[in-house]
Amino acid sequence: MSNGADSTPTTPKATHEANPFEKLANPRRVRAHKRSATGFIPEGPKKLSEIFPGDAKAWKSAIAKNAESLKTDVDSINAQIVHHVETTLARAAFNVDEMAMYQAAALSVRDRLIHNWDVTQTFHTQARTKRVYYFSLEYLLGRGYDNALLNLGVRQPYNEGLKGLGFNMEDVIDVERDMGLGNGGLGRLAACYLDSTSTLDIPCWGYTLRYSQGIFKQIIDSSGNQVEVPDPWLENQNPWEIPRLDNAVEIKFHGEATPGEGGKGPGTWTGGLDVLAVPYDIPVPGYKTQTTNNIRAWSARGKVSFDLAKFNAGDYDAAVREAEEAETITRVLYPNENFDKGKALRLKQQYFWVAASLHDICRRFRKLRVPWSEFPDYNAIQLNDTHPTLAIPELMRILVDEEGQPWDEAWEIVRRTFSYTNHTVLSEALEKWSVPLVEWLLPRHLQIIYEINLDMLKDVEKKWPNDRARLARMSLIEEGYPKMVRMANLAVVGSHRVNGVAALHSHLVQQDLFPDFVEYLGRDHFGNVTNGVTARRWLLQCNPSLAKLITDTLGSDEWVVNLDKLEGLTKYAKDKAFQKKWAACKQANRERLCDYIEATLGLTVNRHALIDVQVKRIHEYKRQFMNILGVIFRYLQLKKMSPADRKRLVPRLSVFAGKAAPGYYIAKLIIRLCNAVSKTINADKDIRESLSVAFLPDYSVSLAEIIIPASDISEHISTAGTEASGTSNMKFALNGGLLLGTLDGANIEIAEAVGDENVFFFGHVTPDVPKLRRAHHFGEVQYPAELLEVVDAIRSGMFGEAGVFEPLLGTLFEGKDHYLVSDDFLSYLQAQKMVDEAYVDQPSWVEKTINSTARMGRFASDRAVLQYAEEIWNIEPIKIPQDA
Ligand SMILES: *Cc1c(COP(=O)(O)O)cnc(C)c1O
Repeated sequence: MSNGADSTPTTPKATHEANPFEKLANPRRVRAHKRSATGFIPEGPKKLSEIFPGDAKAWKSAIAKNAESLKTDVDSINAQIVHHVETTLARAAFNVDEMAMYQAAALSVRDRLIHNWDVTQTFHTQARTKRVYYFSLEYLLGRGYDNALLNLGVRQPYNEGLKGLGFNMEDVIDVERDMGLGNGGLGRLAACYLDSTSTLDIPCWGYTLRYSQGIFKQIIDSSGNQVEVPDPWLENQNPWEIPRLDNAVEIKFHGEATPGEGGKGPGTWTGGLDVLAVPYDIPVPGYKTQTTNNIRAWSARGKVSFDLAKFNAGDYDAAVREAEEAETITRVLYPNENFDKGKALRLKQQYFWVAASLHDICRRFRKLRVPWSEFPDYNAIQLNDTHPTLAIPELMRILVDEEGQPWDEAWEIVRRTFSYTNHTVLSEALEKWSVPLVEWLLPRHLQIIYEINLDMLKDVEKKWPNDRARLARMSLIEEGYPKMVRMANLAVVGSHRVNGVAALHSHLVQQDLFPDFVEYLGRDHFGNVTNGVTARRWLLQCNPSLAKLITDTLGSDEWVVNLDKLEGLTKYAKDKAFQKKWAACKQANRERLCDYIEATLGLTVNRHALIDVQVKRIHEYKRQFMNILGVIFRYLQLKKMSPADRKRLVPRLSVFAGKAAPGYYIAKLIIRLCNAVSKTINADKDIRESLSVAFLPDYSVSLAEIIIPASDISEHISTAGTEASGTSNMKFALNGGLLLGTLDGANIEIAEAVGDENVFFFGHVTPDVPKLRRAHHFGEVQYPAELLEVVDAIRSGMFGEAGVFEPLLGTLFEGKDHYLVSDDFLSYLQAQKMVDEAYVDQPSWVEKTINSTARMGRFASDRAVLQYAEEIWNIEPIKIPQDA
């Protein structure tokens, strides 16, 4: 088939930071496994009769015919779509609406994906290649249709085909629901990384859970409050998942456990309750390559149909109830980001997920018939945050209890297999599970964790005798009532490499979070891989006009797979004609967003206003509160101005979007305040041309794709040291939006790349934070008059019933202000003023935005994934040969 598999994507060059901690981690680099010169180890010739049941000729001719149906000319594509309309959907032409057309077209795309998936998986299996397994409890994939068309290189013929059938591509794209199996940054990162592994031809599977309810849908009620409603993403058949009902796995909970002899021999785990894990596969196409990696999402099922004993004993209800209870395991995604609630069901989810996934990986490994000591040569497992840390004791259990491996050798295998990415230093987000809960749910695993702990503590005691404080800090078990298992400590000692997600964050991980482990395991155990985003979705797909301008200007679309090529734009940054085209793209995207705002909020806005965006999960540390306080300040200033002065000021449109965790009261008040302010300001006829505010409900990947290309300024204003990296900052800068931010997370590296002169920085830096917090604690703070003026305005009822916001305002005063809004407020207003002034000089502004895009190459997820591949996974790309 011609899906563009013949165009070889060049491998992007990895950019390495000069980081003292970033030497190769893995002291025992896993051996590269033996390969022939072509990188291909044939399984040995098979007889045709072994491959095909029946007549090989009949099979081959049928396969060839079938492949023909995947041809990519417009007529063939239409035939395929109509085939699905007529058979899969069982509809007649007169009965096809946009939803039906989407489904039929998506199913025809899915046929291509499945074909490529098959070829890829067969090839990787035959080549006995190493695979990476990316364990992430969240994958925030967004929509699949447009992305697959672009990656397969068939968007153009599909466009034409749909037109011929009487449909508009954009409208068809719009009926797809997002796959919202994630909360925010962490889940979106996983999605970007999978896209990159496929594009780079790195064999990789994602493992996750298939939640019946993904992230909730956010509705804003008439008082401006967030209301959560379930998002039934599976309501219309989801074409992007392939059920593998015959590959279900049994997962055990509870039961009784005995440790092995001396703690280290094979132990046992019996009795308990079994739940079925059913896999659903989501193919992930690479960009213009046949490599199609896989995300395997597990769904929980009860075992009722197997439970004949209970069934026959007349205990039908109990059997059914048990099954229903089992299904609750994957019923819902926990809607908290950067916050650990410690719910038992969440622990069940985590074990269910890692146990099913490891079962799968070990089954695959056994077929290779090589010793277990070679397990890390074939498998690298990346732990995306501590959520999958139970995989460490689970693999120990499999190796020691089931496979009879000696404990010490098993531990060596485990450590060579796993690596761990830390995503936050916020203490409320560090996972801990109570020992009684773990013991009740996973008795054998608790024994294994204790044994690992004992070994470690003995070792530490040897190195630092009589240092009880150190032992207490490092122990996997936190003393107290109840005792708690520290998942991060377990992840650190069970891995061969720990990384943070931006240079500053990785530094804090070592300095503040795990200093004892740095001493114990060595600096090389720790490192940094700065996050990245995929240019396929976050430029090519979401910003087609800019993408086209870039391709036309550079004379090639190589930047899509080698983002460093954008650098070539710098030489046009001052070019008047180019600037004009560049600005026209921004204006078109601005209009698209204004249309969206009008359609969803019924709000008419100034279509030439500077668009100032803050879209991300609502959290105190991200300080949307400071942003809206700044908006109020601007409003108060505007009210004091003469109409003529007002006209001279750059008009603004402030855009907010984001979900708050349902139980996060203060975050929900921030949403309410944004909506209240928006209501007052937008209703003020004197101000409307100069300032308007839009809170767009239900932030999602698809909404981000509309908002990001339109932004002039985006805000990444977390308290210094609290945002590990951020990734939306990268998406904005890539799309020619300038950043207004604090010296936090990846903002710092983005400024290094695009130039300080192209970023608006403000606020205190990380080392200031402890003493500022202390000053609040001791009541030694002066509140700026500007802030008090804004607070008074809210208290005056200018934005509706004032009392409602008291608990939110209270976070600023009385020794609190943990996130230092009052300390950074003046500096923030100052930075906003600089934005206004800079925007007046349009040629210089446009030049800044061009340079910003041009220098974002190093923030490609391709770079990040290659860095993981080289420094952590020890895996190389392997291209699928033409004749596979
Ligand atoms: C990129 C992205 C995020 C992460 O945003 P940050 O500003 O980095 O927190 C969250 N949600 C969605 C839908 C995204 O696309």
